[in-house]
Amino acid sequence: MNPWFAKAVILASSIALIVIPYRQHGGPSRALKVVKSRKGALERVLLTLVSLGFLIPLIWVATPVLAFADYPLRPVPFIGGILCLVLGLWLFHRSHADLGTNWSMTLEVREKHQLVTRGIYRLVRHPMYLSILLYSAGQALVLPNWLAGLSYGVAFVLLFAFRVGPEEQMMREEFGKDYEAYMARTNRLVPGVW
Ligand code: SAH
Repeated sequence: MNPWFAKAVILASSIALIVIPYRQHGGPSRALKVVKSRKGALERVLLTLVSLGFLIPLIWVATPVLAFADYPLRPVPFIGGILCLVLGLWLFHRSHADLGTNWSMTLEVREKHQLVTRGIYRLVRHPMYLSILLYSAGQALVLPNWLAGLSYGVAFVLLFAFRVGPEEQMMREEFGKDYEAYMARTNRLVPGVW
């Protein structure tokens, strides 16, 4: 298959990943004031890695510098990847809609922060992280380049691994028994599994 198909899909899905939070909140500047931040050095390093992981596929789309790691594009992974991307972006949109103004790019508690346990948050505690994992899998399948295909997923898995514990700790400190009860009745990513 012509790699331009993959380039078009990667460009469109990357734009969607940026537009969805902006449509929901009008951008971070319009969100509510941050009252507690846990954005330490590790979190900054991880966020930088994720930004790089997001940019590398766009570099692959726009320039030939990563061509040394290209491999042929095949229809089955391409179509499977598009399905993962669509599902991931839908779940990303859903979780943004349910989280509303409580959303942050990093570990923060906002003014008038409310614990969300309804909508998609009734099923799992981290639907947005699940959506990004699905998106990353989709990108790895669609993008026929070992480096650019995996860059976002690898960076995001690292961010997730280091962030999920501290995030739940922060939420426990903020919402106490309510968050503990929520933890007791939900799983992190997959209902009934983990
Ligand atoms: N981990 C969640 C949210 C990601 S956004 C998910 O994957 O869907 C990260 C911010 O969301 C955190 O800084 C925290 O302030 C906030 N947050 C996480 N879970 C929340 C919940 N159940 N209700 C309200 N805010 C939440």
